[in-house]
Amino acid sequence: MQIIRTVEELRAFRANACGNVGFVPTMGALHAGHISLIKQARNENDIVIVSTFVNPTQFLPGEDYEKYPKNEEADIKICENLDINAMFIPEVSEIYTDNEPTIIAVRPASEILEGKTRPGHFDGVCMVLNKFFNIIRPNNVYMGKKDAQQLFIVQNMVKSFLMDINIVPCEIVRESDGLALSSRNAYLDEEEKMLALKISRSLLNASNLIAKGEISTSILKDKMLSILEPLEVDYIAFVNRNFEILDQIEPKNTIILVAAKVGKTRLIDNIWL
Ligand code: AMP
Repeated sequence: MQIIRTVEELRAFRANACGNVGFVPTMGALHAGHISLIKQARNENDIVIVSTFVNPTQFLPGEDYEKYPKNEEADIKICENLDINAMFIPEVSEIYTDNEPTIIAVRPASEILEGKTRPGHFDGVCMVLNKFFNIIRPNNVYMGKKDAQQLFIVQNMVKSFLMDINIVPCEIVRESDGLALSSRNAYLDEEEKMLALKISRSLLNASNLIAKGEISTSILKDKMLSILEPLEVDYIAFVNRNFEILDQIEPKNTIILVAAKVGKTRLIDNIWL
């Protein structure tokens, strides 16, 4: 496996790559969620590139950019064991100059939910992925449904900018108790981990109620809020596949989303019906 730290090296690697190229962009601190994306990429491509880059432009002032978990050595071992061809681990200065154009993520989808609480977050995501896609020119890019809004926005970006790239949505990986894997779970102590289970439980409960015929989002929301107590809920939302907020459930076309704080840690999760 080649460890690549500069754009120049990555361009050279790409120029010599034969066959289909799969790309898995991550912020590192790899866990089983990332690993499932990487394995899928490995199965479906001739060449697989994984990036681990904590992208500063997608963090807002006061967020956890500085303390975001990092584990380069372990990440490299994981990718080596998964038979990955190259890892891209650049410094920030390799990716950004002092004077950058602004790429705006599609509206209104980028301004609701995550985008409302984290204004500019998706612009930062689109910015870095644009750069990465330009260097790597991947055929397939693997992204988790865990970040459903991000997935929608990136699919939209690829379509709008006429990029010849297939975005592959990947299933959410959970602990056996239901907790969706996230690098930010590392911030949780034991008590908070127990409290965090309320998030997936609330989603499962809502999907069970929908299976029994409930279509009122206000009834579902109240039920979810009572399960989520005492967490600080940022939002509970029901959207269709176009990320439009629903007032009434469309049983086979709804994504239920939750963002909530467990202590100081903000977690997101969702379920696709
Ligand atoms: P991150 O390192 O958090 O930026 O995530 C990198 C990629 O892994 C994104 O496409 C995420 O949606 C995906 N991902 C993160 N957690 C999970 C999970 N629990 N299951 C599936 N995909 C995930």
